[in-house]
Amino acid sequence: MAEIISGKVVSAAKREEIKNRVKQLNANGKQVGLAVIIVGNNSASRVYVNNKKKACEEVGINSYEYALPEETTQEELLSLIAQLNKDEKVNGILCQLPLPGHIDEQAVINNIDPSKDVDAFHPFNVGHIMIGDYTFLPCTPAGIMEMLKFYNISVKGKKCVVIGRSNIVGKPMAMLLLKENGTVEICHSRTENLKTETLSADILVAAVGKADFVTADMVKEGAVVIDVGMNRNADGKLCGDVCYAEVEKVASFITPVPGGVGPMTITMLLENTVRAVE
Ligand code: NAP
Repeated sequence: MAEIISGKVVSAAKREEIKNRVKQLNANGKQVGLAVIIVGNNSASRVYVNNKKKACEEVGINSYEYALPEETTQEELLSLIAQLNKDEKVNGILCQLPLPGHIDEQAVINNIDPSKDVDAFHPFNVGHIMIGDYTFLPCTPAGIMEMLKFYNISVKGKKCVVIGRSNIVGKPMAMLLLKENGTVEICHSRTENLKTETLSADILVAAVGKADFVTADMVKEGAVVIDVGMNRNADGKLCGDVCYAEVEKVASFITPVPGGVGPMTITMLLENTVRAVE
């Protein structure tokens, strides 16, 4: 049976550390502020934004919400971002994705001041991730690295297979594993013989967005399995990309959903916001 990598446990420890750093900054006369922009009525986005605001409060970060209607134009959104870029009480800017279809997400990301880009999506920060020299780390992959560290799971020399090549998860995940000296492979929907690739993984990261995609026969005995997926099953229950019930019997470590990668993503957003001030 695999040992559970608990995002809740790692998160609680990390948030305590962040809280102390915020206190220290406050004692030196510095406030920490995060602006959270949400456009439209996406119910999942609303839940994420509420969770992020709550997490900010818990560690003493001031959060400023900007809830804009669905019909907001790109110009209006860019104008708000320009204003927040100049606002001294705002150290981090987060624009919750996805945005309504008429808004170009990349244009929005490109207009956030890189020094306030706490999601690390701006091409400037993405470039720094490629170089391996960074201020802001992309929250989900960075949270995964924290979890591996917490459980003393070494990446050095290990075969790491990442399923998914999105700019938000798959690609930066691969770069962070590479920085820790993993031998990294990225798989995607055009990968031939996916199972052969996943079976070679000492560390397998699933970021696909499909419930129960990774089955036990795709996992090497003793592998570390990280499940990034956040999907709804037929009963509407939150589940990951990994078929947990069967894979936990093969893996040495596994992240559950919920309670795995999810809590760490928000924690790393807090980390980046504090870093923006420090
Ligand atoms: P995405 O942009 O949709 O990317 C999915 C990736 O999976 C793509 O690269 C796609 O390949 C690949 N894929 C799809 N079908 C495949 C198949 N049959 N075989 C191999 N690869 C396949 O998704 P994302 O934004 O990276 O997110 C992935 C999942 O993580 C989602 O469930 C999302 O909700 C979740 N997520 C969770 C957190 C968290 O905090 N826990 C944060 C972010 C995302 P192609 O590129 O070839 O299409």
